[in-house]
Amino acid sequence: MTARIIDGKAFAATVRAKVATHVAHLKETQGIIPGLAVVLVGEDPASQVYVRNKGKQTVEVGMNSYEHKLPADTSEAELLALIERLNTDPAVHGILVQLPLPDHLDSDLVINAIDPAKDVDGFHISNVGLLGTGQKSMVPCTPLGCLMMLRDQLGSLSGLNAVVVGRSNIVGKPMAQLLLRDSCTVTIAHSRTKDIEEVCRRADILVAAVGRPEMIKGSWVKPGATVIDVGINRVAAPDKGAGKTRLVGDVEFATASEVAGAITPVPGGVGPMTIACLLANTVTAACRANGLPEPE
Ligand code: NDP
Repeated sequence: MTARIIDGKAFAATVRAKVATHVAHLKETQGIIPGLAVVLVGEDPASQVYVRNKGKQTVEVGMNSYEHKLPADTSEAELLALIERLNTDPAVHGILVQLPLPDHLDSDLVINAIDPAKDVDGFHISNVGLLGTGQKSMVPCTPLGCLMMLRDQLGSLSGLNAVVVGRSNIVGKPMAQLLLRDSCTVTIAHSRTKDIEEVCRRADILVAAVGRPEMIKGSWVKPGATVIDVGINRVAAPDKGAGKTRLVGDVEFATASEVAGAITPVPGGVGPMTIACLLANTVTAACRANGLPEPE
């Protein structure tokens, strides 16, 4: 069997188009322009690329983008003061603090200082609690993007066996909550899981969020399963020339795509959906802030 390739790039473009339509509607009918503030502390090169892409795509869908680039030695008090200003700024509907933060800053403290209504990453403890209890919340962007792709592929997820490999607060745990909310039977696997290959082989839906290049092999995949590869790992690619690199996921694509029913590629799978969902969350936040109906 050769798996269907789930085109996250194309799907993300449709999500962004819907966001752009909604933004235009908000502007025309309410005079509201949703605004997203992104805070970057330090010089981490990967974070700089992410922040640039987020800013560019925010503007492309017609929203306002506010970038706050702070030096690596920014104090906690300075960062908290900026967040407080953004919390009270009516032009800002979404606030994202790019992680990881430099070591001297307490990311839990910083994230929990964001107004939960503007927490478009969905990492504030209030949003985590709301999601866990099935209440309306801001949903973390990467798992939300994965869920959208799964629903698009499979329709109803009810009753399916879902295995999430990885239990981080930003991907694994919220992914498991979302799958549970959609009535999957959910297993969360992690570094201490016994017989992990066997656990994975029971999955109708297999989500890999580990951060280990190509750890999950085709032999771990149930025939016909839907595989969502969240991992983004840069590895050496000597075949492309000395010093060259390439991106791979947490799933060994060559073997898994022979067994799975559908699979996301890396790059071009989950990654583009993450930013599209961030934009969608910002529009949702702007609608909620103004008591307007939310986009579907
Ligand atoms: P973390 O490092 O926070 O978490 C990794 C998880 O994988 C942990 O729960 C860990 O288990 C588990 N793990 C590690 N080694 C193994 C192993 N050998 N077997 C089973 N489980 C293992 O990573 P993130 O959740 O932040 O990110 C995961 C991946 O997703 C990364 O590659 C990251 O780059 C990517 N990512 C992609 C995004 C996108 O937009 N596409 C967004 C966010 C992340 P334990 O808890 O026991 O240590």
